[in-house]
Amino acid sequence: MYLYNSATHKKEEFVPRDPSLVKMYTCGPTVYHYAHIGNLRSYIMEDVLEKFLRWEGYPVKRVMNITDVGHLASDADTGEDKMLKGARREHKTVMEIAKFYTDAFFADCADLNIKTPDVVEPATRCIDEYIAIITRLLEKGYAYQAGGNVYFDTSRLERYYIFNDHDEEDLAVGVRESVEEDGNKRNKADFVLWFTKSKFEDQALKWDSPWGVGYPGWHIECSGISIKHLGEYLDIHCGGIDNAFPHHTNEIAQSEAYLGHPWCRYWMHVHHLNTSDGKMSKSKGEFLTVSLLKEKGYDPLAYRFFCLQSHYRKALVFSWENLDNAAGAYRKLIDRIAALRPADGPVDQGAVEEAKARFDKAVGNDLNTSMGITALYDALKVKTNDATKLAILDSFDQVLSLSLLPKAAAVRAEQEKVKAVQAQGGYTVTGEGDPDIDALVRARGEAKKAKNFAEADRIREELKQQGIEITDVPGGAVWKRI
Ligand code: AMP
Ligand code: ZN
Repeated sequence: MYLYNSATHKKEEFVPRDPSLVKMYTCGPTVYHYAHIGNLRSYIMEDVLEKFLRWEGYPVKRVMNITDVGHLASDADTGEDKMLKGARREHKTVMEIAKFYTDAFFADCADLNIKTPDVVEPATRCIDEYIAIITRLLEKGYAYQAGGNVYFDTSRLERYYIFNDHDEEDLAVGVRESVEEDGNKRNKADFVLWFTKSKFEDQALKWDSPWGVGYPGWHIECSGISIKHLGEYLDIHCGGIDNAFPHHTNEIAQSEAYLGHPWCRYWMHVHHLNTSDGKMSKSKGEFLTVSLLKEKGYDPLAYRFFCLQSHYRKALVFSWENLDNAAGAYRKLIDRIAALRPADGPVDQGAVEEAKARFDKAVGNDLNTSMGITALYDALKVKTNDATKLAILDSFDQVLSLSLLPKAAAVRAEQEKVKAVQAQGGYTVTGEGDPDIDALVRARGEAKKAKNFAEADRIREELKQQGIEITDVPGGAVWKRI
């Protein structure tokens, strides 16, 4: 496949160092709060990348960290520890917060068909690894101690800014965010490897180290966890675009200084999901989570479909209207697949291979998932039998993970049920899985049967107020949220 590599600013053919195992690393969530759907856009696109590589036949080992210590409010090593902030907000311990939001994160991932990486490692479990790396960096002269903390000395590097040519002044993040700057740093770009002195007297998690009791900086965790599980050479490192600087820039600096050779070959960055008034945030405006989507009646996979419709290297604007359009298109797609008759003949393997080659070319071009979706619609138009079409869709869905075949089978089963009830002269309610609404729709049907039209109209109006539309069908009614 071809993949845009942020480190070289070019689309490049992906060639793993060892094709018998692709080594992939993903920056995981900071578990101080729920993930918002912007965070999850990044994880959806990284999931597609992993699945596409597997679909192409590569074995993949993917590792992800869980940030449960050391991530401060500002990426410039200042501000409050995010985990402490979460713990204080909820009157719980840091570990309770970490456990709760880690579980919540994986529940969201399950709703979105995001596969759990092969290895998931909480940052707090690898303290020895960080200490070993920092010790070597000090020995090699890449790190220094000042004011009780250990810092990485960026002036020791020939090239520090890998992803962009930053102006020194751009680094005055602290100033911009009116957070006090750290006077211990020799150079503005230097970053903390190990904190012993911080302004958090109540820092909950601390460990003994050769430099005193303290805790690791945020960046060292990803180098430590990656090297621990994937060794000295990494094929692909992924994350959201905001991670490129300073987080990934610092990961490269410390990993390569420690290892003494180049570390990761391809860097994949997913651009942001924004709202119409700017960046998505956990603190401002509506906090957009998977639970909120579900509360509002959306299938989380409609959100996955929405993400796949656009390219990961473009910012994507979220609005309820845009999501409605995607949800409508997703539902229609499932209905079209449900209309196919399974096992209506032998699968034409030649047609499957041809379709797969087209999908490979589309998605293999820098993970162009919207072209992958087009390939789905094209597959429905191929001049072949339904069994072959379903085999093609099944193959594409190993990458896109939209549950196309199971959802279509469920629609088909529901239709069969309706037919069976109709055959017995009964009344069937089909909807979006809400028993209260089902009961009201049924009550309306019964009122109609009893010729109590005023009551039937009253119920229809009541449901309309709740945004529910009813369509009468032979032997029953179908309802949906509009
Ligand atoms: P965090 O939990 O803050 O460490 O972020 C988890 C992941 O989400 C990281 O890869 C971020 O780069 C990514 N991310 C943060 N905000 C957004 C956004 N608005 N859209 C897409 N990805 C994001
Ligand atoms: Zn990371």
